[in-house]
Amino acid sequence: MDRRYPSDADAKRDILEAGRRLYARGLAAANDGNISARVSHGHIWTTPSGVSKGFMTGDMLIKTDIDGNAICGGSGKRPSSELLLHLCVYRRSADVLSVCHAHPPVASAFAAAGIPLDAALLQEAAVLLGAIHVADYAEPGSLALAEGAAAFCPEYNGVLLEHHGAVAWGGDVMGALYTMERIEFSATVAMYSRLMGMERPMTQRQIDALMDLRAAWGVSGGGRPRGRDA
Ligand SMILES: [Zn+2]
Repeated sequence: MDRRYPSDADAKRDILEAGRRLYARGLAAANDGNISARVSHGHIWTTPSGVSKGFMTGDMLIKTDIDGNAICGGSGKRPSSELLLHLCVYRRSADVLSVCHAHPPVASAFAAAGIPLDAALLQEAAVLLGAIHVADYAEPGSLALAEGAAAFCPEYNGVLLEHHGAVAWGGDVMGALYTMERIEFSATVAMYSRLMGMERPMTQRQIDALMDLRAAWGVSGGGRPRGRDA
């Protein structure tokens, strides 16, 4: 299959920009979060550990193979501690060209509570994001965490990590970032709905029609969000 990967330069530029936006929006505090981009079937660029994602420079980014072996870059810094999580997601789908992990505060509160973001509350979120479930608890940086999260790819667009944060993936860096933003937006709306005492999903018939829109909107995957029967 003919597949177009970004150049090294484009992948690095997009990772730096996505890092600035993650940090500026408060989706990754301190040194938290990590972003990667695939530049061939077996090679990715990823962010370093121990660096704020809002203040990275191109020389800090690290190119690795699909087994996590560093090839170049980094200026002496090590790849993200969650590199394995990214690699496991890439192995699940050749269509995934970017992975983004962050700790968005509202979505992380749902992750801490073990509550999925699976209710169809808003139309565009239902079409574009779909359902976001919670991967079982596992320690950070572990194979169990990586495999548990990757199991939701490619059927879904992302997943919450229990007591940890969120992961999003997509066809390019901005796509993965936008999914992360949508996860936090959906979590915020779900939180307000619950505070109002009225989390009111759409009807099954309404959701049927929205799922039919996916093809026209060029959306594949996301799973079906939860509706109500009435
Ligand atoms: Zn994390």
